Amino acid sequence: MILKIAHIGVAVKNVEEVEKLYSEVLGLTITGREVSPDNKVSFIPLGDTAIELLESVEPDGAIARHIEKRGEGIHHIALEVDNIEKALEEMKAKGLALIDQKPRRGAHDAKIAFLHPKGTHGVLLELCEPKKQ
Ligand code: ZN
Repeated sequence: MILKIAHIGVAVKNVEEVEKLYSEVLGLTITGREVSPDNKVSFIPLGDTAIELLESVEPDGAIARHIEKRGEGIHHIALEVDNIEKALEEMKAKGLALIDQKPRRGAHDAKIAFLHPKGTHGVLLELCEPKKQ
């Protein structure tokens, strides 16, 4: 079951620089800085959801390649699910193309998996099951 928008992922060239916009200019609070396997990540909680800033750790990482092709900007929308394995199975059964056949570890130790944008009208959707507290 899809519960809410977990976060909106934004591809940036330099997380620290973009944090200044969200904190100093927009007055929001940055929480949860971390380095996930592929990216430097910053979370900016906003109501019941969050903005996720992503900077590629490697020059040829997925986020770096995205910026090369399309510039900085919105990269994906993450949907929170209660059971990611079940959600992936159901979406596969309904014919959606998956990028990740199995969940992998994302920021905050959440289990994540991406759906292929060719099946979602150009929107990169991430399924995200937060780590149980
Ligand atoms: Zn994300």
